[in-house]
Amino acid sequence: MKKMLIVDDSATMRKIIMRVLRQAEIPVSDILEAGNGKEGLQRLVADPDIAMVLSDINMPEMNGIDFLKAIRTRRDKTSLPVVMITTEGGEAMLQTAMDSGANGYVTKPFTPDSIRSALEGLVG
Ligand SMILES: [Mg+2]
Repeated sequence: MKKMLIVDDSATMRKIIMRVLRQAEIPVSDILEAGNGKEGLQRLVADPDIAMVLSDINMPEMNGIDFLKAIRTRRDKTSLPVVMITTEGGEAMLQTAMDSGANGYVTKPFTPDSIRSALEGLVG
C-alpha cells in the first residue's frame, strides 16, 4: 500500500480523481492533495513516504511539466513514479511530459478502467 499525491488546481477534479481511484480499487494507503506544482514539491519534502504522484499539467504558479522536471532532479522514475493527467488535445504537452521523465499519463475524462491501466505496475 502506497501513499499517493494528487496535484491539480481544481479541487473538484481532485475529488473526482479520488473517487475514481476508489472505484478502480487502487491499493493506496493515503491520498494527499496539492493545488499546483509548488505546493506539490512542498508536500513531497514534508512527506518523504509519498510513493507515487498523479499530476495535472495546466496549473498556476508551477505547471505539471516544471513540477515533474523538479522532481526528476532528485528522484528517478523507479523511486517516485509520476503519472500525468491531461486533457484531450494536449498531445504535444504529453510528449514533453514523457521526455521529462513521466512514467505514464491518463486522459481526462477518465474511467476506473483507464486509471487502472495507467497505474498498472506502479502501485501495489
Ligand atoms: Mg488544471
